[in-house]
Formats: sequence, C-alpha cells, structure tokens
Amino acid sequence: MQPSAHQSAELGLDGDAFDSGEYAAIGDSPWEYARMLRTLLGNLDGMVYRCRHDAGWTLEFVSDGCTRLTGYLPGELLQSKRVCFAELVHEEDRQRRRVLTERAIATRERFGAEYRIVRADGAIRWVWERGVAVFNSASGAIVFEGFIEDVTERKRSDEALEAAERRYYSMFENAMDGIFRTAPDGRFLVANPALARLYGYGSPRELIDAVRDPARQLYVKPEDRAEFLRRLETDGSISGFETQVYKKNREIIWISVNAHLKRDAAGCVMHYEGSVEDITERRLYQARIEHQANYDALTGLANRSLLNERLSQAIAHAERDAGHVAVAFVDLDQFKFINDSFGHQLGDNLLQTMAERLKRCIGKADTVARQGGDEFVLVLCDYAQADQITRLVQRIQAVVAEPWTAGRREFNVNCSVGIAVYPQDGRTADVLLRNADSAMYKAKENGRNNFQFFTAELNRHMFERLSVEHKLRGALARKQFLLHYQPRVNLRTGRIVGAEALLRWRTSRGSLYRPDRFISVAEDTGLIVPIGKWVLRTACEQAQSWQIQGLRPIVVSVNVSPRQFREGNMVQTVAEALEHSGLPARYLQLELTESMVMHDAEKFVSMLREIKKLGVQLAIDDFGTGYSSLSYLKRFPVDHLKIDRSFVKDLVTDPDDAAIVQAIIALGHKLGLRMVAEGVETEEQREFLLRSRCDEMQGFLFCKPLPVADFAAMLADSRAELSRDG
Ligand code: C2E
Ligand code: MG
Ligand code: MG
Repeated sequence: MQPSAHQSAELGLDGDAFDSGEYAAIGDSPWEYARMLRTLLGNLDGMVYRCRHDAGWTLEFVSDGCTRLTGYLPGELLQSKRVCFAELVHEEDRQRRRVLTERAIATRERFGAEYRIVRADGAIRWVWERGVAVFNSASGAIVFEGFIEDVTERKRSDEALEAAERRYYSMFENAMDGIFRTAPDGRFLVANPALARLYGYGSPRELIDAVRDPARQLYVKPEDRAEFLRRLETDGSISGFETQVYKKNREIIWISVNAHLKRDAAGCVMHYEGSVEDITERRLYQARIEHQANYDALTGLANRSLLNERLSQAIAHAERDAGHVAVAFVDLDQFKFINDSFGHQLGDNLLQTMAERLKRCIGKADTVARQGGDEFVLVLCDYAQADQITRLVQRIQAVVAEPWTAGRREFNVNCSVGIAVYPQDGRTADVLLRNADSAMYKAKENGRNNFQFFTAELNRHMFERLSVEHKLRGALARKQFLLHYQPRVNLRTGRIVGAEALLRWRTSRGSLYRPDRFISVAEDTGLIVPIGKWVLRTACEQAQSWQIQGLRPIVVSVNVSPRQFREGNMVQTVAEALEHSGLPARYLQLELTESMVMHDAEKFVSMLREIKKLGVQLAIDDFGTGYSSLSYLKRFPVDHLKIDRSFVKDLVTDPDDAAIVQAIIALGHKLGLRMVAEGVETEEQREFLLRSRCDEMQGFLFCKPLPVADFAAMLADSRAELSRDG
C-alpha cells in the first residue's frame, strides 16, 4: 500500500494513509501540510492519480484507494509495472476516454467520464472519473491528474429506477383505464391515452387543452362533481364513484372514478390523481336486468312484483298522510274471444294498445301494471272521494271502448272493473288486490262493461251518481229544469235590489232536486254548458217579463261555472241572452266563484272585461272559501262580493268569524265593491252586519228561494217591502 520512496519524497508523502496520530498547526511546518494531504488522500473512497499523456497512460502516482478500487497494489500500477492504466479501462470504453482526455488538453478544461474498469480479479466495475490536464511549460510534457471512484452501485440503482419508470410509463400509456392528475381547480395536468379515448378526444393533449371546466363540460349533473369533491376532501380518497359524463361529441356515458388527493406539507391540496373506467355497458346491462325484473315484456307496464312494491309504497304514504289509495282491477271483456279467434299476434297487439290507453288515463303518481293475461291493475293515489274514482273509471271504460282497428277489422272492446279502497277495503297490498279482484268478478257477473266497488256504501254512491248522470242527459230536452229566485235586499232599508236565479230539477218521478244533487255531475260531464246557457236565457227572459208586467226593475244574478267559460263562448252567450230577451244589460249580474277567478285568472280576465263592456255586472260568489287575496281581486272588473254563508253562520257566536267578516267588508269597501252577506238567517246576524256596514244580504231571514210566481207576487207587494223597511 505504500507509494514508492522516490515518489513519496517528491510529493512529500510518506507513512500510513490511515495514520491518526499527532498533528500540528498547518503554518508551522511544511511537513504538517503534507501529512494532512496524505491522510485525506489515503482516506478517500476512490483513487487519486497522476498519469502521463502516453499510449498506456503510465501512472506516476496513485493514492492508497487504488487497491480497493482496482484490486491492484499501488506498486503494481505505478509505472505500468503489472498493468497500465489503459489496460485497466475496459477495452470498449478505452477509446472514449482517450477522446475525452484529448479534448481536455485542447480546451484546457476539466473532463469527466463514466466508464468500466476491469479489476485485478477480472470483475467489471463502473467508475466515474474527473480529471484535468496539467502542462509543464519547461519540458512541454503533459500529465493528467484526477480522481476515480466506483459508481457501480449507484449506476445499478439508477438503472433499476429507469427500468421501473419505463415500466410504469408503459403501464400508464397502455392502461385500459383512464388515468389522470388534475389541479385543484379541476383542470387536467396529466392524462393518459385511455382517458382521452374515453372522453372521445384524439390525444391526451387535446383533452387537457379542451377541458377547462370539468364540472360543466364533462358532468351531466354538475352537482355530482360537487359531491365527488366533497367526499374526496373529507375522506382523502374515493372509490367506485359512478356518474354520467359527456364525451366530446356530447354522447353520454357512465363512468366509475377512483381518486385520491395529494396535499403538500402545509396541508394544501396540490392535486387529485386517479383512474376512470367506462361502465356504460355494465349500466345498460343492469338497467336491462332491472327492467326485465320489474316490467312486463309485452306491454312495458309494471309487472306483478313492481306493482306490489308500488302499492305498498302508496299504502305507506296514505297511512302517514291519512290519505286514500284505490286499487282498480281492469279485465278486458272480449280478450279471450279475440285472442282465440284471431290469433295471438293480434291478441298481443290488443294488449299493447290497451296498455297505452290505460297509461293515458292516470296521473303521475299512479301506476298501471299488467297482472297477467288480460288483467291490468291500477294503483290510484289521492282519490279520496268515490266521485273521483267513479269519474276516473268511467274515463277508463270510455278510453278502452274506443274502436280499435287491426288490419281491415274493427273491434269494440269493453272492460269490467273492480275497485278496492285503502283503508276501508284493506290495509295491505294483498288484501286490497284480492278485494279489487273479487269486486271485478262481481262486475262481470252483473254483465260486462261494468264496474263495482268492493264496499256496498261506495257502490250505492256510484250507482246514484251514474243514475243521476243518466237522467241528467235527458233533463234539458224534457224541460225538467226550472229556476227559483231568492231576493237580495238592501240591509238597511230591506228593499229588494236583486234576485239570484237558483237552478232546480224536477225529475220524471216528481222530486225536486237542489243543485248539490246534480251540479257536480253536470260539470264533470260537460252538461253544465248547455244547462248554463238555458239558465242564462231563462233568467234574462224572466227579468224582462217582470219588467214588462210593470214590476219594479231589479238585477237578476245568474251562477256560472268555470266550464262554461272554458268551453262555451261566454261573451257571445251572454250577448245573445240579452238580445234575445231584450233585457238591458245593467239588470244582469253573473256570479263567478272565487276559485275560478283565481285559477284561470289570466285567461278569463279579458273575457270578463268584454262581458263587463256589455254593461253586465259581476259578482264573486262564496267569497272567503278559496284562497284569493283582495288585492288580487283589484285586477278584476267586479262589482259585488258575496261573503260565504259559512262565515255568516257563526258570526254572532264565533269572534274569529266576526273579525273576518268585518275585515272582508272593510277591505272590500276600500276596493269600491258592494258587499253582500249570504245565508243570513237571524236578526242578530243582520244587526251585526248592519253595524259592520255590510251593504246587502240574502238569506232565509228575509226569504227563501221562491218559485217564479211567488217571487213576482212578493215583488209586486209593496207592503211586504215597506213592512221590512228599517
Ligand atoms: P250559491 O250561488 O251560493 O247560492 C246560494 C245558496 O244558498 C242557494 O242554495 C240558497 O238556497 C242557499 N241559501 C240562501 N239563503 C240561505 C240561508 O239563509 N240559509 C241556508 N242554509 N241556505 C241559504 P241552492 O239553491 O241549493 O244552490 C246551491 C249552489 O248551487 C249555489 O250556491 C250555486 O253555487 C249553485 N247553483 C245554483 N244554481 C246554479 C246554476 O244555474 N248554475 C250553476 N253553475 N250553479 C248553480
Ligand atoms: Mg250564487
Ligand atoms: Mg254563494
């Protein structure tokens, strides 16, 4: 391990490289300086050298580290005793080193080289050398001085790292799933080709450049994105997050995202990373499977299992809200015959058509299901009254009965319907279905194209309604309607100022029906339109005829229903009634209901203005039972407000009602309306209303609605008026 005596003397180096003995201050002796250098060189992990600029790079000096580096003792290397430096360098790398050293001479710059050496034991090691050419100006000789260290281990780990990187890069590039890194604002920082493909872009670059705002550009529901980020923030990672996104061509696909969030040392979000999978196929498949499990393949209606689920849900809701659910079993009367005689294909088509027709009849919350064969089941929510159900079932029967053409044939199909209602006919899905089914069988027994409620009570109601409807259809032609008149009087003077025409129906059996027995049926069936027209004409004629008879002119009020406005040409009907009768328009008043004014306000306000232009007066009837605000009424050209009977009834006993009535009167007066109290029956009520400055009243206290002759007699009898004069 010793440099030769000759060299050591030259360099001032001798003694043991690993010596750790005494030392002195550097300035004190040149030997101390040499000693320190020797220690440092000897301890270097690597080899310090000087070599000549000759063919073999003859070594003139090597530090002790040479043995560990090369396996040769210094003596074996110096002066190329056993091997020369050039031989030490792997033969494949030798020329490269030579080029570098020559260049270093030319440029007078340091050189660095990485190459292989062959150790004494034949092992090949990677080394890193840093050297410099040193010139002797006197002799012109050149030597190289430098340091060589073993970098085999580092080189190996670098290579391993590179290999790993190459491998991961290839995985990233060739992955089937999309891989991304995004900035906290959502913009893509990194994307792989699969991600670009998934979103329909030509390359990752195009995707990164195009998508600046993923929440809006990619997400079909931006709120999903918000949810995704929220979960990522709280949990740090998210897996299997499924959502719908737009591709570049606006096609919508389902994706599943795994992601995690990277924070910096300060805890701020640096970026998100993760992967995206296109799961559209799976979703479609799932949807198909679910659909198959819940829907009837032929008609697309809910099947038995979904029916049970929906019915149970509806029952649960009804239970909570004290509501009702009706279950209707619908069975096509002629199906079996058609199916057997004309073939199954035709039978199938018929079922499909009927399924479509049934769907048209029901509301959003309702369900139509195919129970099997030609049986359909309807789950009807929010049908509290037998009336409503009856009306719906009638519509269903009408819709089913519409002629159906297949090829050149036309079929007329009817259905039988059985109905059970929650809660009275059963509290579970099973019981309701069973009872609706048995009601349906009863309907069939009663003859086809029939329907039956499970409950006798509801059946009675339905029958009555149906019979009213049946009889009502002929009533107009048979001249069974008549009008009674109830006086409207000035509260203060008791003087008759008007009369309300109230419809009565004398049936063929002689009973006199009041409107509550038939008006709703007339409205539902549309019969109210011709009937209302008759009322209007008759009332106008009557009022005009009283005037012709010489009776004091009074205003006659006629009730009109919303349907007349919707379906009849009201303006024309009114004008014709006036013209036909010769009654001056100022003696006619129309009574509109509050709900009609409120609901169809925009549509009707112009019609009302036109009617008003004719000179006809308008009143709002039953005021206080709807939800109108008085300020809203300002927009309508109304003259009278009739306070509903229900407020007047308890006026004297209920302070709330008293306050309401007083408030309505005060506000009505502010709007310039004349106030009428309906249903005044007692003197106390009249006194209260008088005190509250109500203008007019109508009610049994003064007079019940009277037949024409009686009313005329009363009007003629001035004494009757005088006796009531306040
Ligand atoms: P309405 O327009 O509010 O008519 C007043 C109703 O209250 C009348 O019932 C009348 O007999 C009743 N009545 C009057 N004073 C008293 C009283 O002091 N006590 C009580 N308990 N009742 C009183 P009616 O004649 O049975 O008419 C009921 C409803 O039928 C009317 O209420 C009106 O909305 C409707 N109506 C009547 N005739 C027609 C019509 O020709 N066409 C339309 N569309 N509806 C009509
Ligand atoms: Mg009225
Ligand atoms: Mg009324």
